[in-house]
Amino acid sequence: MTPDVRPLVAGNWKMNGTRDALSQIKAIAEGVSGPLSQKVEALICPPATLLYVSTALATDSPLSIGAQDCHQAVSGAHTGDISADMIADCFGTYVIVGHSERRTDHGETDALVRAKAEAAFAADLTAIICIGETAEERQAEQTLQVLKRQLLESVPDAASAENTVIAYEPVWAIGTGLTPTAEDIKIAHQYMRDDLVARFGGEGKKIRILYGGSVKPSNAAELMAIDNVDGALVGGASLKSADFLAIYSAYETLLA
Ligand code: PEP
Repeated sequence: MTPDVRPLVAGNWKMNGTRDALSQIKAIAEGVSGPLSQKVEALICPPATLLYVSTALATDSPLSIGAQDCHQAVSGAHTGDISADMIADCFGTYVIVGHSERRTDHGETDALVRAKAEAAFAADLTAIICIGETAEERQAEQTLQVLKRQLLESVPDAASAENTVIAYEPVWAIGTGLTPTAEDIKIAHQYMRDDLVARFGGEGKKIRILYGGSVKPSNAAELMAIDNVDGALVGGASLKSADFLAIYSAYETLLA
């Protein structure tokens, strides 16, 4: 955790969820409506097909709704893509950019991720910018250099605590059940914090840095307690409301 920073527990549904899954959004919206919501923010990023109806379902709750990607342009001939303006038009308030699956499946570069984050800012969305090393980079002991490069090249100069969240997701930890040790996460998050403060000053102290990669109810409390871990980006375990709410509720004890 970081002093005076409101943690964010964010769920990334990826390409999962049809209308049947809206009952999970409803249950999560209800489940995060208690007093903990004053201290901890909750967000679900469903597939784009469920975005508009999800924001409608979450209207009277503290649950935020976001998207999983946006195009860097405002509009135009980009078949299959959605713009940041379209997300805002559906009342989404966040967009994930640079997830490793986009970087791998679609060849997205740091420069493109940065352009997407800038498009998000222009639409008044908060960008969750994902970074993280591959297994090979970790084995070669390049984790911190990779994080430095990705922060420099993926995060726009206009980043602030309001419009930007960083998600540190070691690629090898996503969907594998593996996580770095608490000490490794502590070192990586401290490194990113120092880098953000060096570049953005006071804003860099407040930009939330999430950990992502095999977060589940059984490890959430330990992971969320680490210095400079300001919440989680959760994939698989966000699909079931009970699991997502159990992760969110880890903060009941941590902030008691
Ligand atoms: C993710 O894809 O952002 C993620 C962290 O997935 P999982 O929690 O399933 O590892």
